[in-house]
Amino acid sequence: MKIVEKDFRVISKNRSQMIDITNQVSSLVGQSGITNGDVIVYCPHTTAAITINENADPSVPHDILLTLEELVPHHRSGYRHSEGNSDAHCKSSIIGCSRQIPIKDGSLNLGSWQGIFFCEFDGPRSRKVIVQIRGE
Ligand code: ZN
Repeated sequence: MKIVEKDFRVISKNRSQMIDITNQVSSLVGQSGITNGDVIVYCPHTTAAITINENADPSVPHDILLTLEELVPHHRSGYRHSEGNSDAHCKSSIIGCSRQIPIKDGSLNLGSWQGIFFCEFDGPRSRKVIVQIRGE
């Protein structure tokens, strides 16, 4: 089994934002030469996350962020963390910092409506995404 590890930067513009990174991941998979296996998309940050969801209608990421904001408000009584970004830490843990996607015949085996999103919860910032491609 071959393992290829790459990374790239994502620049967020808003405090909360979902950025479609499907094309970046897909081209790294193409460059790796691995045609069957899987890819782990990982973000090494405590206030960001990686998810997979619909990237055809931009209303979907909007509604996900709206829902997360309602579930986990930016400001509420009881938070102790002094940086003022407790909501971002909670959202990061709820969504999770990585996703695994199968690679089949040289391509990401995503559903036709699925895309990979980097989720920013404490932007704007420059962030890193690590992509580990494994297989034959
Ligand atoms: Zn913090």
